[in-house]
Amino acid sequence: MAFDYVVVGGGTAGCVLASRLSQDPDVQVLLLEAGGATRPAAMADPMRWTFLVGTEVDWAYETVPQPGAGGAICSWPRGKVLGGSSSINAVMHTRGHRDSYDAWADAGATGWDYPTMLPFLKRIERAVDAPDSRYRGMNGPMIVAQGEVAHPLWEGAVEAAVEVGHPGATDLNNGLEEGVGWSEYNVVDGVRQSAADAYLVPGLERPNLAVVTGAQARRLLLDGGRCSGVEYTKDGELRTASAERQVVLAAGAIGSPQLLLLSGIGPAAQLREAGVDVAADLAGVGEGLHDHPMTTVGYRTTRPVRAAAFVRKPHVRLRSDPADPIDLHLIFSDSPAPSTGTPGAGDGYAMRVALMTPFSRGSVRLNPADPEGAPLIDPNYLAEERDVERMVVGVRRAREVGEAKAFSPWRDRELLPGPDVRDAAACREYVRRSVTTYFHPVGTCRIGVDDGAVVDPELRVRGVEGLRVADASVMPMIVSANTNATTLAIAERAAVLMTGNP
Ligand SMILES: Cc1cc2nc3c(=O)[nH]c(=O)nc-3n(C[C@H](O)[C@H](O)[C@H](O)COP(=O)(O)OP(=O)(O)OC[C@H]3O[C@@H](n4cnc5c(N)ncnc54)[C@H](O)[C@@H]3O)c2cc1C
Repeated sequence: MAFDYVVVGGGTAGCVLASRLSQDPDVQVLLLEAGGATRPAAMADPMRWTFLVGTEVDWAYETVPQPGAGGAICSWPRGKVLGGSSSINAVMHTRGHRDSYDAWADAGATGWDYPTMLPFLKRIERAVDAPDSRYRGMNGPMIVAQGEVAHPLWEGAVEAAVEVGHPGATDLNNGLEEGVGWSEYNVVDGVRQSAADAYLVPGLERPNLAVVTGAQARRLLLDGGRCSGVEYTKDGELRTASAERQVVLAAGAIGSPQLLLLSGIGPAAQLREAGVDVAADLAGVGEGLHDHPMTTVGYRTTRPVRAAAFVRKPHVRLRSDPADPIDLHLIFSDSPAPSTGTPGAGDGYAMRVALMTPFSRGSVRLNPADPEGAPLIDPNYLAEERDVERMVVGVRRAREVGEAKAFSPWRDRELLPGPDVRDAAACREYVRRSVTTYFHPVGTCRIGVDDGAVVDPELRVRGVEGLRVADASVMPMIVSANTNATTLAIAERAAVLMTGNP
């Protein structure tokens, strides 16, 4: 069947694209999503996101062994359902500091600086608690709010952070501030709001929008140097969809490069090794993978802290070196050990300590033994020693907060890293032993103008007509924030670039 636009992947970005492109009743839009439309009950409850990991709505990827993490294999969940990872994520709505976007432009992503991105970051959101509409959107589809219920432990956490010198921010999402502030969430009346809920569902009745779930794209159809459509499987049957105008990949930081590689667009040597005919030798496809590496500083408490309701919590943005941009993030948790659960950890509070500007880079490559199966995912965590050093600073700064007087009514003792981990060498070893994902892979189809770039600053795949990528994979460098909001904004901007309608 012929469409004007075929969008591959109905995740965070794909839902925005399908919605915005189909606003024009004269164009026919097809959205292909490998996962299903039905959602387990736990998906609605923002407190139960960890219960979704490893279920049928998760691709349940794993990394290759990580030398920087003592050879560990990390679990890498990714949403496989309408809404994609926004349907299984931890619902934090966090925008990057302006430095993040300005750094994109400086690296060759012309036109992706903060002033250009700000209208798109505003367009996505209805920020009900935000103080200043110059920086925050008030009319967008995603409702953004601080948790409705306060908890004395987290009021104490704000005090603790201020006590040890972090400035109290009025709005950590305005792109300008640092220090401690309240997190914002995509939660409405206690229920998760995914990109599918906010963008896709309201447009599902449109006669010019077709959404096919259980439809896994297998390869792109290339006609000379032009992408003319997509081959996909549905109910075990191979089907094709053609695109008169364009195909846009929104299959995420793993799915988009894998589909390009399976279609012969990527590094020629890797394609040949996997038995794929080379259509366009594009060195950067799948390269440049990075994520925020994360560790935990956790404390047992003298009494239970876990609330029955979804409570608001603060987070802290800071710099490991005052001369450098923001590079560390502390998010508070009511589980003293890693969020995927450590049996017997007991009651407590923790800070997840994440490095927001890692220098280490890895890759997503086809598995030559099974190119259509799960790709070889290598975030190459902590390959750069300077990443370890900054995480050690993060552990120290988290300990300052965790040991502050404001926490003393609650604190029993430090659980992680633990009393034996004190000097720099022990902290480095702890960081390597405990590093895990913050669930934010990016960079595998990065925007740029150099030979390693995959898409140009208008998101067009270099060397192929009629094909764009618009999802988390295009970020040249990861932002100093959780990645969902920025991915929504990338897709909003992509829709404008594609249609020419502001
Ligand atoms: C467990 C978890 C917790 C997270 N917590 C947060 C958080 O609290 N805040 C935050 O900001 N970010 C968070 N993130 C990250 C955030 O959700 C992602 O950055 C964002 O969703 C990425 O959007 P995307 O459109 O690039 O990819 P996705 O949303 O992953 O969408 C990709 C879609 O493409 C589909 N797809 C893939 N391959 C194919 C194919 N071949 N054919 C058809 N369809 C395909 C997938 O099934 C998926 O639906 C979290 C992520 C996870 C996994």
